[in-house]
This record gives sequence, structure tokens and C-alpha cells, in this order.
Amino acid sequence: MAVTLPIYLDNHATTRVDPRVVEAMLPFFSHTYGNAGSINHSFGTEAKEAAERARAIVAAGIGGQPREIVFTSGATESNNLAIRGLAERQRRKGDHIVSVTTEHKAVLDPLRRLARRGFEVTLLEVEPCGSPRTGWLDPQKVAGAIRDDTLLVSVMLANNEIGVIQPLREIAEICRGRGVPLHCDATQAVGKIPVDASELGVDLLSFSAHKIYGPKGVGGLFVRRSGGSVRLEPLIDGGGQEGGLRSGTLNVPGVVGFAKALELCLAEMPTETPRLEKLRERLWQGLKEQVPDLLLNGPEFERHGGRSLQRLPGNLNAAFPLVSGEALMISLKTIAVSSGSACTSANPEPSHVLRAIGLSDDLTRASLRFGIGRFNTEEEIDYAIGAVAENVHRLRRLSSLGVAVTGAPSGSA
Ligand code: PMP
Repeated sequence: MAVTLPIYLDNHATTRVDPRVVEAMLPFFSHTYGNAGSINHSFGTEAKEAAERARAIVAAGIGGQPREIVFTSGATESNNLAIRGLAERQRRKGDHIVSVTTEHKAVLDPLRRLARRGFEVTLLEVEPCGSPRTGWLDPQKVAGAIRDDTLLVSVMLANNEIGVIQPLREIAEICRGRGVPLHCDATQAVGKIPVDASELGVDLLSFSAHKIYGPKGVGGLFVRRSGGSVRLEPLIDGGGQEGGLRSGTLNVPGVVGFAKALELCLAEMPTETPRLEKLRERLWQGLKEQVPDLLLNGPEFERHGGRSLQRLPGNLNAAFPLVSGEALMISLKTIAVSSGSACTSANPEPSHVLRAIGLSDDLTRASLRFGIGRFNTEEEIDYAIGAVAENVHRLRRLSSLGVAVTGAPSGSA
């Protein structure tokens, strides 16, 4: 099969909306376009019914009850609502929060804001590079960090840069035993690995539609209501939608698409997971054969023949020593990937995640993240291997001739 260029290999940043999701959403733009709050006429009640069906599907998809789902504009808002909403509501219980150095900025920045307001934040370190479990958080570190005044623990389920999957169940057990609520940013995990909020034992769980072939601008926050409910202060006041936790007219086409996207991911997971693992293995083996000195960033998966319970199936992050990842990324005109040099496009800093696992600044700058997804094929992976190898060789040749090759900053979401 011929490949169509350019090839999209940045599926951790966002994904193409699946045509089946678009189809499910369309009637809610042009036909059932009522305000889900206008329940005095059929336009509104039909929209509300569709939104509630979507809520039930989303809730079941992550192991919650419909009343435990708050629809938001995305995982950034969900994380902010969880962290700032809980801190605001429950400050009198204490002002200490525990999280991890490798969290997404949508967790770290709200924590920084709280720190400026007098909260104390402990950021735990993860296994450094060189370990087979690079990026992994030892649950005992959480146990050691919790104090009498700890208000919240926040740990992501799967990392957006190095794909490491954290031991959330063990962490939740520890938090529960100490009576401390646990928030989990599961944005990269939902729809890609099994996620059951009740089984995991988390109290708050953030996720987003655009990472799972759904629309941008739609997300969810699971807020536990049974067995010790969690109380939050809203960030947005207004019409009192979403149980008062998130005012604003509900994005009905968006939540319908979110539900369809999650449904498809869950239905296809049994075949999609091994397919992505095979593609990732193919990419890694192909790159290793053609690029000397290639280094894997993040936890191992090779030993298990591409299978890994500790790494997202479609994730690969690698350092290409002696090459600038930014220059490489820019020279790769036919492949869309992310460099290890930034976490958001607004921020040209070297990746805080790669730094947190102890990678040198040089290797961080020499890193690329590949996010393999639903629409990628073997032929695309083979093309990508050839294109990356060719450009690495060219850039290495140029730098050995003393030609400075750097790239403009760019980033990974
Ligand atoms: N958390 C993680 C782990 C992410 O990967 C992202 C998206 N890059 C976010 C939060 C923010 O999600 P959204 O784009 O839906 O706001």
C-alpha cells in the first residue's frame, strides 16, 4: 500500500477525529441543536437526552456512575477543577499536596499557583533513566510523603512523553488507608489501556476526548460520589450546569462525540493494543538497525517482545545522540512527531519529563517522541524509519563537518 504524506505520528498531542465520531456528532449541529438546559421544548429535551446517554456511556467506560461525571472543556480544565477546586474547598483540613515531577503542566501549573498562595507542594521523583522502570513512581514514596496535613495526592496514570504507566491501584490503597483523596490525570490512558476509576480506587480522574479520536474542547472529570464522596469548589460559576461544578451551556455535539469515541476505543482495544505494540516494536527495531547509538527514553518494552504493562502501547521516545531533536524534527518534513525540547509550544524549555528522569540537556534536545495511533500503518512506520535514519545521518555528517544545525523551538502537547 502506498503511503500518503505527510505521516502523522504525534498521536499523544492529539488525534484525528474518527469519521464514525464525526457522523455521530453531525445531527447535533444541524438538527438536534437545542440547549440541553431548555427542557420546556423538544429541541432541549432531545439534546438533554442525548447528553445523558453520552454521560452514561462515558461513565460506564471509565468505571463510574453517570452522576460522577462532570463534562469540561478538556483535561486541562479537569485537572484545574480537581486540584484547585479541592484545595479551595478543603483548605481547613491542611495545605500540603503531594504530586510527581513528571506530571503534565496542566497539573504542575495549578500546583505552582497554589504554592504561591501558601500551599506546600511535595513533588516526588521517579526511577531515573538506566532503570528498566524509568519514569516509574514507587508507591512507597507516596506513603513516605503523606503527612497529617496532606490534603491531596495527584499522580498521572500514563505519561504523555515517555508512556510510563504508574501503579495507581497501589497508590490509591495507600491514600485510602491514610484518608487522603487521590486525583489521577488519566488523559493518556483512557481509551488506550483499561481504566476503571472504581477499581483503581481513585477519587478524581481527568480525561479528554481529543486524545481518543474524539473532538477537541471536550473533557471529563470523574468525581467520586460513593464510598466517601469528594467535594470541590467550582472554577466557573453561572447557570449551575453539571451539578453546579461547571456552569456553561453543555457542548452537546462534543459530549456525544466523546461518548462515541470512547465506545470505539473500548470495543477495539483487544485488537488495537497488540497492533500498536507491533508497530511500536517495528519502529524501534527498524530505527535501532539503521541508527547507531540510539537510546530509549522511558521504561523497557523490548524484553517482553514489544508487550509492556508499564508503557503505553503506541508510545516511543528515543534520543539520537549528536543530533538536535528540533533540527531533526524540522528536517523531517514528511513526518509529524514531537521533539523532547518542550512540553508546550509556548514554552521552549527542554522537556521537564526527560530532565526529571535524569537525561542530560544534550540528550533531551536530541530526543523525539513518536505517538503511533489508530490510523497508522506498517507502511507508514517503514517510511518513517527510513526518513528518520536518513535525516539523522545527514545531520550527523553536517555536525561532523562543523556546520551548526539547530532548530527553532517547538513542542509536544
Ligand atoms: N494531561 C495530559 C497527561 C496530557 O497529555 C494532556 C494533553 N497534552 C493534558 C493533560 C491536557 O489535555 P487537554 O488538551 O484536553 O486540555
